[in-house]
Amino acid sequence: NAKAQGKGRIQTFEDSMDADYRYRQRLKADLADAIAQNQLSLVYQPQIDLSTRRIAGCEALARWTHPELGPIRPDIFIGLAEEVGLVSAITRWVLRTAADECAQWVEPVTVSVNVSGRDLRGEGLRRDIEDALASSGLEPSRLEIEVTETALIEERSVAASRLKALAERGIGIALDDFGTGYSSLSYLNEMPFSKLKIDRSFLADIETNPRSLGLMANVARLGRDLELVVTAEGVETEEQLALIARHTEVDQIQGFLFGLPLPAAEIRELIEKMSKTGAPMSGQNWKKP
Ligand code: C2E
Ligand code: MG
Ligand code: MG
Ligand code: MG
Repeated sequence: NAKAQGKGRIQTFEDSMDADYRYRQRLKADLADAIAQNQLSLVYQPQIDLSTRRIAGCEALARWTHPELGPIRPDIFIGLAEEVGLVSAITRWVLRTAADECAQWVEPVTVSVNVSGRDLRGEGLRRDIEDALASSGLEPSRLEIEVTETALIEERSVAASRLKALAERGIGIALDDFGTGYSSLSYLNEMPFSKLKIDRSFLADIETNPRSLGLMANVARLGRDLELVVTAEGVETEEQLALIARHTEVDQIQGFLFGLPLPAAEIRELIEKMSKTGAPMSGQNWKKP
């Protein structure tokens, strides 16, 4: 009967809440081992210059392969690492690894590293960056830090002065996922950004909705007016690419059309190939088979 069914449903719901909670607790407990036991790795997604169709930079994205649970998405484990105070250790590892791997590329392509709000407010970021640059020999101008609007909400003046010091060092500062936060736009002038990355949600229906395309074009114009490099995130189709190229002032695109995030060896080969052939390539050429 209905009552029994209802009861069953509630129990199932509670069970799954429980399972989710236990899963997250397990991951939190295992995170400390992730770095020490080499379970983290980086994949790199190319950022393509629209005018030359060449790789201008690559974004380093963290991957965690849990020995028993398999691959864990960064959207999950970065948040958990923040909760247990391990995010700065992860950032330190990512900076080191990304700088070492980028230093091996045959062209002066940049590498972008995501940092969290905790990193910005904490004490160690500057030192970790200097260590990564020193040990890899990478030029500061080859490194870019990506921050989200959400990461800048708390202790805004601390974040601003930390970022200014990095910008003065020649490091690029990208505002990531632009348009998904809820802060006012005044911080655009306070922070020393060099790049604006328009969140992929702006792209969702530009093929069918002229208003969406207009909005995208205006956001890109805002970035351009502030003299920032403007990147469109999440470009998946030739149609989206054509609309962006034709109707917006976007400088760079990043998305599955121009490549899934690739392991270090593969991205290095891709950059070598680009360097040898020198030819601009279309979306399909880059797609992983
Ligand atoms: P993000 O920085 O905005 O990175 C872009 C995310 O969008 C990546 O997901 C990427 O795989 C995905 N993506 C790229 N192109 C497309 C596309 O065309 N379509 C769709 N649907 N998705 C696309 P990923 O690797 O799962 O990372 C998710 C988020 O986790 C990142 O978003 C970033 O905020 C965070 N993250 C990743 N690595 C790190 C890290 O080392 N440190 C920190 N603090 N956060 C990280
Ligand atoms: Mg990012
Ligand atoms: Mg993003
Ligand atoms: Mg994101």
